[in-house]
Amino acid sequence: MIRIRILGAGGAVPTPTHTPAAYWVTVDGISLLMDPGPGALVRLVRSGDAPGGVDEIHTVLFSHLHPDHTGDLVALLFALHSPLPECEAPLRLFGPPGLSSLLGRLGDLYGSWLVPRKRALEVTEVRPGDRVPLNIRAAGDHGPAHAEAFAVDHPQDRLSEVQLGWRFVDGAGQVAVYSGDTGDCPTLRHAAAGCDLLVIECSTTDDWDVPGHLNPAQVGAVCAAARPRRVVLTHQYPNAAALDLPPLVGRHFTGPVEQARDGDVYLLSAPPRKEPA
Ligand SMILES: [Zn+2]
Repeated sequence: MIRIRILGAGGAVPTPTHTPAAYWVTVDGISLLMDPGPGALVRLVRSGDAPGGVDEIHTVLFSHLHPDHTGDLVALLFALHSPLPECEAPLRLFGPPGLSSLLGRLGDLYGSWLVPRKRALEVTEVRPGDRVPLNIRAAGDHGPAHAEAFAVDHPQDRLSEVQLGWRFVDGAGQVAVYSGDTGDCPTLRHAAAGCDLLVIECSTTDDWDVPGHLNPAQVGAVCAAARPRRVVLTHQYPNAAALDLPPLVGRHFTGPVEQARDGDVYLLSAPPRKEPA
């Protein structure tokens, strides 16, 4: 089973229905926070998915280090510096090269304020092709559920030269892919090929061609090549969010396309297995 709660379906410029990037992803019962943009913690606790609040966050994945995908990292670490949270399990952070440097610089600025009081911080810099096992509670054998990073095309000139998308695989072999922020690129098409669910950025409108981002026509081209079974559009800036995007993508791709808003939930339930005759 893979479940994705879209906590933030927007980019850096928030609207009432599309706030900056944030996702609560659950794979075979194991949940993680992906891309904690500004306001992610508030939207998570208000969603009802994490009634225990920050104590329920054990793993955080980052696609890249732009502020609209990392803004609440400071808020999370400061919350964990409070004596009130009770969880003592390590907090695992996975992101592109540069994540440790970002944390180091934030530490220079905030000092002990960002040191969790009861939890160890485990920081892992990830390269394309690296796998993150999700079931950390299982000693030794982590089980089949995992997240795998792939490279995307989102040029930026600070902190990291590597930007990632994430591919989630559950124990039934179902695959959900998150594009992160990216332009059309072969690695995105390869990662999304035949996947069950593609959560893909659609930052802007067809009259804009912004390097490192996608508009509806470009999303349609990616999907026509990759043939995902279901498509969800996210990371919509206000001009894109104001439009009915699925018909625009549908000019280029005939599969099902949905336009995310904050709070939406997308679920992949494993089909029942056939008993042998
Ligand atoms: Zn972004």
